[in-house]
Amino acid sequence: MLEGRELSKSFGRTRALRGADVRVADGEILAVMGPSGSGKSTLLHCLGGVLRPDAGEVRFGEVRPGAGEASCGEVRLDRLSDRELSRLRRGTFGFVFQFGQLVPELPLIENIALPLLLAGRSRRPALAEAADWVARLGLDGLWDRLPGELSGGQAQLAAVARALIAGPRVVFADEPTGSLDSVAADEVMELLVDTVRAQGACMVLVTHEPRVAAFADRTVTVRDGRVVQPVGAR
Ligand code: ADP
Ligand code: MG
Repeated sequence: MLEGRELSKSFGRTRALRGADVRVADGEILAVMGPSGSGKSTLLHCLGGVLRPDAGEVRFGEVRPGAGEASCGEVRLDRLSDRELSRLRRGTFGFVFQFGQLVPELPLIENIALPLLLAGRSRRPALAEAADWVARLGLDGLWDRLPGELSGGQAQLAAVARALIAGPRVVFADEPTGSLDSVAADEVMELLVDTVRAQGACMVLVTHEPRVAAFADRTVTVRDGRVVQPVGAR
């Protein structure tokens, strides 16, 4: 459903990706591990259309049995215009990062409702839906708090809710628990994984923590800009 082929990306002289191949199936949760600086975030950004690769392909869509490879709504992200790409990103992808993703000036409930408001939903139903998420997160009394008035774990739960509220088909999570203690990390991962599964989405989960990778269906490792299959994998 989402595939990167031979992806390369350089920043000046730094070759962050050097022919990375990766594939995420429908409904699959893929963990991407690897040392710091190996290219994990760059890979996630290329797959999610945040960065354009210098070379290689990003394919997204359904390949139905019997249909040709290029048919049935498959999209080449690397060939879309900026405008098409940002529309696809907004409607189809959800992102969770380690820090700083909530809008500091907006109360919790509006942060969560933001993707619905940006998609053109009217305010009342969008806020009502966000209120359901606030309750589900166990943050009932805190709906009008600003992000700076929340704990790290609370802010990260809100960031997950915001990434998922519009029902994305692919969720990209880059070290989503990197700033949290293990109790808060488990809470965030359970919310993330349960919702991704319930929505039938797939997820690319970058982490360097084995206990976080254990939530995934499959793990690959990035080394020096390439995806290395785990030893023993077919
Ligand atoms: P990881 O997420 O595995 O730690 P990254 O994908 O962030 O690795 O980075 C891979 C390499 O590319 C690193 O050497 C990093 O310094 C470099 N890099 C990443 N983003 C940029 C950027 N925007 N500008 C310059 N260098 C970058
Ligand atoms: Mg990174």
